[in-house]
Amino acid sequence: MAELATSRHRMIEQARAFARVMHGLPDTSADRVEAALMLYRAFARKGYHALLIPEGYGGRGLDALSTGMVYETLSYGAPGTLHAPLTTAHCAFMVMSGMQNAVHEKTLKTLAGKLSPAAFCLTEESAGSDIASISTTARRQGGSFVISGTKSIVINHAIARTFIVFAAIPPARGRVSLNAFVVNASLPGISVSEPYNTLGFSSGVMGSVRFENVRIPEEFMLGEPGSGYLLFMETLDRGRPLVAASCVGEAHRALDLAIEHSRKRSQFGRQLKDFQAVSFTLAELATRVHASRLLYQDALMRIDEGRPFTMGASMAKFHAAETLSAAASFGMDMLGSRTVGTRTEMERIFHNAHLMQAIDGTANVQRMVIASQL
Ligand SMILES: Cc1cc2nc3c(=O)[nH]c(=O)nc-3n(C[C@H](O)[C@H](O)[C@H](O)COP(=O)(O)OP(=O)(O)OC[C@H]3O[C@@H](n4cnc5c(N)ncnc54)[C@H](O)[C@@H]3O)c2cc1C
Repeated sequence: MAELATSRHRMIEQARAFARVMHGLPDTSADRVEAALMLYRAFARKGYHALLIPEGYGGRGLDALSTGMVYETLSYGAPGTLHAPLTTAHCAFMVMSGMQNAVHEKTLKTLAGKLSPAAFCLTEESAGSDIASISTTARRQGGSFVISGTKSIVINHAIARTFIVFAAIPPARGRVSLNAFVVNASLPGISVSEPYNTLGFSSGVMGSVRFENVRIPEEFMLGEPGSGYLLFMETLDRGRPLVAASCVGEAHRALDLAIEHSRKRSQFGRQLKDFQAVSFTLAELATRVHASRLLYQDALMRIDEGRPFTMGASMAKFHAAETLSAAASFGMDMLGSRTVGTRTEMERIFHNAHLMQAIDGTANVQRMVIASQL
């Protein structure tokens, strides 16, 4: 127990030092894809994309709670930079959930490497929250699958070496079955869009990926036939407290920036913090940040202890994303005219907060999951 606490403390200190360096780096590259790749590699060199991958596969083999605390620390120190490694971590979850053969084991080892960003391709123009309605297909041809379809809003789309692709196998008869496939990004028939022009998300790339008759051997399918929906749900459940941890780090940072400004800035002869309208809101936000932290840590402890965690994971993501939005919005108000015209850290958090609302399911999706467990 004492050993775990010491190694957790050491990891958090290392993450704090790393985030300080990342925060201080100027954003000089004009090429977004190259910049995203360089940022990814900086995180991957420290193993932050592979914290939960077992050591036997080349990962750090950390417990879930320590991983969350490290992600919170990184997000506090360098807000908005964690999307790419976190997405590869999600892909690793998918592989671990559906692992059945040597191809899958090799894929996990590849993902644990320092130069192999991954992306998951689920969402489509007409399939967002309702993932069962995807139209990408995987048709059986002999011992292969042939994948066709277009995926959108894919983080890491232009830097990924591996895609985890969700596609429906058309049935000979009966119901369509949803499945996940490991797809090497260099296969013929794959093309990626230019990175989207995004509001916020300046440190990464996101775009569409088109699969046109992409042929893969059948061993590249993860899990049993028809297991894609469950596999994705399990991955989301495990990933949500980690996304929540990242939201908590950014919310805490927004709060600290607001507090700092409320001390420095005086109006009507008093520091802003001395107005009750300001101090009460700060007190409320501090309470919400703390509650969000307890929620994500509880969900991760449940994962570590093998207890049910689905509801706790959704509560954590729901509460943390709402808290981040509230903290960032209030922070923008506090800074007043300083947010006009210049790029501030608060503005980065504010835009990122909006994106964090949708990642791993919107607030309404979390409400649906929580309601289904009551
Ligand atoms: C920053 C970011 C990164 C992402 N990364 C990836 C990625 O890497 N790979 C990938 O495949 N996808 C990714 N996504 C897509 C993400 O999973 C979807 O945005 C999400 O599932 C919501 O789908 P949608 O945006 O189409 O919204 P919709 O499903 O169209 O929902 C729009 C609104 O309607 C609400 N709504 C929908 N259904 C219901 C209902 N039944 N009851 C009540 N309200 C409802 C939603 O809560 C939302 O507010 C990413 C999204 C974002 C914003």
